Amino acid sequence: MKLGITEYIDCAHYLPGHSKCGRLHGHTYTVDVIIEGEKREGMIVDFAELKSNVRLVLAEYDHRSFNEFLDYPSVENICELLATKITDKLPYSFTIRVWEGHGKYAELTTGVSR
Ligand SMILES: [Zn+2]
Repeated sequence: MKLGITEYIDCAHYLPGHSKCGRLHGHTYTVDVIIEGEKREGMIVDFAELKSNVRLVLAEYDHRSFNEFLDYPSVENICELLATKITDKLPYSFTIRVWEGHGKYAELTTGVSR
């Protein structure tokens, strides 16, 4: 079974050298984190635990510019950055999908469960 949460952050970014996205602008990024596992005592994981760990990571970036953290903050690179940071906080593999505005996302699945 899969279990997922959705969180939102508002961030600025620009893509150096890009004809349209080279100007500073912002997006509301929707971040889905999905884990898969077996239920133990009726739950895969407590939503509160999952949300608090993901929120801790996202709070570092909310209302800031991703250019402070990445040379080229495409949604692909943002997805990798967030996946790496969330991996440090979650003891299991997960899929992360980062939406840049509406209808556009990058997704990756992290490695084996620890
Ligand atoms: Zn953009």
